[in-house]
Formats: sequence, structure tokens, C-alpha cells
Amino acid sequence: MNVDTGPSIDTVRQTLQDQLRQHTATLAALVAVGADPSATGEDPHAIATRTATARRAIEEVTAALSRIAEGSYGRCERCTGPIPAERLEILPHARLCVPCQASGC
Ligand SMILES: [Zn+2]
Repeated sequence: MNVDTGPSIDTVRQTLQDQLRQHTATLAALVAVGADPSATGEDPHAIATRTATARRAIEEVTAALSRIAEGSYGRCERCTGPIPAERLEILPHARLCVPCQASGC
């Protein structure tokens, strides 16, 4: 390990696991509401959007956890350069460095 700034990988993993738990709970609640939106008076479109967002978040967090397991966490997927620790602190599941993210997909 030559990373001497930012949170340790264990801290990041913990954060991601907490997020995964939260997103999973959110998704479960949304799916329950979405099964019968009229019973709760929720807008079905809003539920669908939030469900999609929660699913996506789960995918992102799961992908980040598998990158940690593979040892590729913290590297940009496009230019393979290191992603700055301060960016990972704000966005633990970031898969691109700032310049690559800014250049669009
Ligand atoms: Zn990059």
C-alpha cells in the first residue's frame, strides 16, 4: 500500500457496504410501494424513477466493492490513472477521474 492520503480502503469498503445496505432498504421499500401505489397515494412515475435510481446506485456501489476485491479500486476505468483521494472521499464509487468524467461518455 503506497496510499498515504485519504481514507483507508477498509474505511471505503465500510462506507460502500453501509451505502449498499441503505440503497437495498430503499429499493425494498420502493418495490413494496410500487406494487400498489394507489394504496399509498404515491405517484407511480415518481416511484418508478426512484426505483430506477436506487437500482443504479446499488449497481454502482456493488461494482465499486468488486473493484476493491480485484485491487483495481481508485483507478480510472478510461485512462487507468489514479483517481484523487479527495474525489473518492466525496464519491466512493467513482469509476472515472475528473478529466475523463468531464469529457463525457
Ligand atoms: Zn481518467
